[in-house]
Amino acid sequence: MKIYHIAYEPEFKSRDIHLWTDCNLGCQACYTHYEKLDFGLLDDPVTKMKTKPKESPPTRFLSLAEVMALLEDIDIERVIFMGTEPALDPELPALAEALHRKFNCYNIMLTNGLKLIDLEHIDEVIFSIKALSENLHLDYTGKSNKTILRNFATISVLGKKLQAETVLIPAYIDAYEVECVARFISGIDSSIPLRIDAYFPVGDNPWRAATAGEV
Ligand code: SF4
Repeated sequence: MKIYHIAYEPEFKSRDIHLWTDCNLGCQACYTHYEKLDFGLLDDPVTKMKTKPKESPPTRFLSLAEVMALLEDIDIERVIFMGTEPALDPELPALAEALHRKFNCYNIMLTNGLKLIDLEHIDEVIFSIKALSENLHLDYTGKSNKTILRNFATISVLGKKLQAETVLIPAYIDAYEVECVARFISGIDSSIPLRIDAYFPVGDNPWRAATAGEV
């Protein structure tokens, strides 16, 4: 498997399982190459990000059996698959099934939505829509958003619990664009929540951080 890091949040009995894949998008503000650890383990991951040098990719990965052995004696109610793009690990559906069977846990997958996988053992999908405008999406990620938008609608009709998220980047992916994303989502199902994340400076991008007021 492509799992390189697992964090535990005891209050919610939540496991964050981080997978490292060669992401199929190339977002300009991707922070994963600057910080590989779970943000919940760090005091202030965002402020330091602007000046952090790039980290090298992980070199040690856990097998499915190793992951199950590591989780053996821990009370787990929810599991979150995250990292770069979890859907690109072909063994993810098998892990989700194994976790369901052993812990009866609630499995959540964060995804950019470009690749659809077997969701039988995923209980909730948190789906990131970077931009609705095709040109802006191409500029920001290097890829068209046509398949992504189609996959969002497909997951919605499957009846799978679905949340959306997008990032507000001042003077780039701005309030107008976020509203376009919101209108797209509500056109599919107005009960799907949309979380707006605030951009924080990463790497040598020219954009400033989004303020709480703007978000
Ligand atoms: S989809 Fe996520 S992991 Fe992939 S490039 Fe974008 S921000 Fe990075």
